[in-house]
Amino acid sequence: MTKTMIYIVEDEQSIRELLIYALQNSGYMARGFGDGRELFAALHTEKASAILLDIMLPEEDGLSILKKIRSTPGIKDIPVLLVTAKSSEIDKIVGLDSGADDYITKPFSMMELSARIKAILRRVKREEEPAFEKLHIGEILIDPAEHTAYVSGKPVNLTLKEYELLYFLMQNSGLVFSRDKLLQKIWGYDFDGETRTVDVHIRSLRQKLAASATHLQTIRGIGYRFNNDIE
Ligand code: CA
Repeated sequence: MTKTMIYIVEDEQSIRELLIYALQNSGYMARGFGDGRELFAALHTEKASAILLDIMLPEEDGLSILKKIRSTPGIKDIPVLLVTAKSSEIDKIVGLDSGADDYITKPFSMMELSARIKAILRRVKREEEPAFEKLHIGEILIDPAEHTAYVSGKPVNLTLKEYELLYFLMQNSGLVFSRDKLLQKIWGYDFDGETRTVDVHIRSLRQKLAASATHLQTIRGIGYRFNNDIE
């Protein structure tokens, strides 16, 4: 069985080497690059299963590299885990709709990194599985075959996580889920202090769903639910 190849873009050599070492210890193959140029050169010869991409890089930054990845045929579907230096950047990044599959904030533990990598790789596997039936509640329609949500017949431009969050809540409409539970279900991990990620995505989803956002209810002190009893 061939091992899964993870590419790492990180300009600080000591961190880069540590990450390579840690991922290899977790059973992956890993290669490190100091900048986007090196990364793209490598991607031309060998495709990676996932990319761990630092945002703060001396020349071209991670967000710009990610944009290029997402617009390059052949590599645009590779899952990308963005590395940020500040948790305050997450709102901004999510708002930009950067195309990242997930975000991790420095400093992070190797256990956390490994869990996130596993989660984004699982996502790819899930997408290769056959599509499910359409889901229609109120004026919101989810078409899993197209991976698209519609409101009143018009497609809504959702990020991957927003889509998955909405789909999950609709599939389980009427049920209340805690932020921890949603993190576990949608992001595939469960770490203290990361529940704000859920709030950020719910907020963004509400904006995009406009009038239909009334379905997404905050249950004080507990979490969220999709309510289908709304007129
Ligand atoms: Ca850096």
